[in-house]
Amino acid sequence: MTNKPMATFSFTKSNEQLRQLIANHIDETDFVDGVNRARKQLGSTTIFGSSYKLDKSNSIDAADLAMLGIDDQEYLNMVCYMPPADSSGKWNFCVWATPGCRAVCLGVASGRMNHGYENAKNRVFDWNKTDTSKAQMKRAVLFMTDRFAFTCQSVLEIYNHRQKAIRKELGAAVRPNGTTDIPWEKTLKVVLDIFGDSIQWYDYTKAPRSVRNSVPSNYHLTFSRAETKENQLNALEWLKDGFNAAVVFKADKHNLPTEFQGMPVLDGDVHDMRFKDPTGHWVGLSAKGAAKKDTSGFAVEVE
Ligand code: SF4
Repeated sequence: MTNKPMATFSFTKSNEQLRQLIANHIDETDFVDGVNRARKQLGSTTIFGSSYKLDKSNSIDAADLAMLGIDDQEYLNMVCYMPPADSSGKWNFCVWATPGCRAVCLGVASGRMNHGYENAKNRVFDWNKTDTSKAQMKRAVLFMTDRFAFTCQSVLEIYNHRQKAIRKELGAAVRPNGTTDIPWEKTLKVVLDIFGDSIQWYDYTKAPRSVRNSVPSNYHLTFSRAETKENQLNALEWLKDGFNAAVVFKADKHNLPTEFQGMPVLDGDVHDMRFKDPTGHWVGLSAKGAAKKDTSGFAVEVE
């Protein structure tokens, strides 16, 4: 995020490649208008940004990856954060959220997005509270009121991200849903189409397997286990199809159980690049922020 409002966008020699990329998908004049409407709405905010964990992922080099026993391709990662579930008071961006995850979600109850345990519990959110919360809400307003402008600005940011990654000889990874659960392969399919296989997409989701069986092969999904029977039945479907599922444990970071319900647990706090995880695992995450006080069963107690 920058502090100055973003400059007006136009096509120039330097982004000729972007013009060619969108050519078969979005009219060029409409695209320019869309980006400039988005910039007006967003001010100094961008749709994508980083986080502590993404910074950590970005700093992992080939030697670290080799030491972890995973493929050593380095990636530049970015993520979009909007108000989770129905916390905006206007829209619901996580239709498969459970009462437990909704109450302690990182997007309202941890780190820079923390509204405080009591506020999160009572669903009292002040989206004007900090620059971070204002930015989450601005993105949401744009997404809901001018989807085309949101799409164009996303394409531009992802293009710039990809070019930066290429310059640094890194892969480019994008996590569309930092604290939401929107199936981009349906809602924003054109963005995925424009970039083909040049981006590694990844997300966590609580959607039933059948809802998200049309993701392209470069869109990696990890199911997100929670406390309800329905969610846990969905987890079984995803596991059966060879996907991993994430579990939040009431444990300190890097001190997770090694096994859960008969399957090995990998440490999901080491980095955020879930697309590098070996299959056949639970992705263990330590409870953070309000999740440490969860009583719903969303965060699993550790003996
Ligand atoms: S589904 Fe995920 S992002 Fe949405 S409220 Fe639950 S934990 Fe948060």
